[in-house]
Amino acid sequence: MLKTKISVGGYCLFFYLLFFLLLPYQAFSLDSSSGEFKRYLKLLEEKFSSYGWTDIKPQEISWEYHRTTKNKHPLFFAIFGNKSKHCTLFLGGVHGDELPSVYLIFKLAHYIKENPELFYDRYIVIAPLLNPDGFLSASPKRVNSNGVDINRNFPTRDWRAKAIRQWIAKGKKKRYYPGAKPASEQETLFQIALIKRFNPQKILSVHSPLNFFDYDGPSADLDSLEKWMKQICKEINHPLKKFGYYPGSLGNYAGHERNIFTLTLELPSSDPKQGKHYFEQFQPSISKFIDLPIVGFPPRIRIIGK
Ligand SMILES: [Zn+2]
Repeated sequence: MLKTKISVGGYCLFFYLLFFLLLPYQAFSLDSSSGEFKRYLKLLEEKFSSYGWTDIKPQEISWEYHRTTKNKHPLFFAIFGNKSKHCTLFLGGVHGDELPSVYLIFKLAHYIKENPELFYDRYIVIAPLLNPDGFLSASPKRVNSNGVDINRNFPTRDWRAKAIRQWIAKGKKKRYYPGAKPASEQETLFQIALIKRFNPQKILSVHSPLNFFDYDGPSADLDSLEKWMKQICKEINHPLKKFGYYPGSLGNYAGHERNIFTLTLELPSSDPKQGKHYFEQFQPSISKFIDLPIVGFPPRIRIIGK
């Protein structure tokens, strides 16, 4: 009897201590109004002006974050619109050296904030800088600070059998290193958390400089997306290419395995000075993507009337 009492008391003490041990971490990690986070946004703004992106003011957007990178850079996102509606998720800066992808998605956040009437009946989540360590390194690089390509690190079903093997077979290029194990990186876990929390029907991830649109999604309705994409690409004179997917890529994880309509926009160059031009070029098709009518939730979703 006495033994039971001690053990119950022991458990209570353990959880009591655990609660106080975790408290400072949570207070830090959830506070997007902290001076530390504001200083980080200021640092980004300075970096942006060095690229001529003076119209991007990260402090004017309301961000949320729950995790940081190895270099302690917050991984943040913004939420716009009506929670009861289907969600479109936008991702930028997956590869830190694909500079205009970062501009484009920050600019999109400003555009949506400035034109709320266009989006009041939509639900939009924007994460404009997925690899800040790569973006902020002295010379911007594709991989994160662990040298991992975030777009090869998703825990897809074929990762263990193929990711490392394919990387070796293709010459062990450092730029494409998939990591020692799947989902080993904070930047990957961040995207997985966004997908789990918001259950998006559509994702657009922006890259450069391969100059095409690629798409993945539910095999049952991929033809509808292809038809829609062909029309969009004709309108804006941007090539459409079925690029396929890799072990550990977003297209594989979200599009192929989870039936989320997933577009990859490859901009024509990685020149940061082209950011503004690319936004003007692609904003109409991005708005159409937000408006694309889809019913159901993944994995059972389809495009209506296309
Ligand atoms: Zn890329």
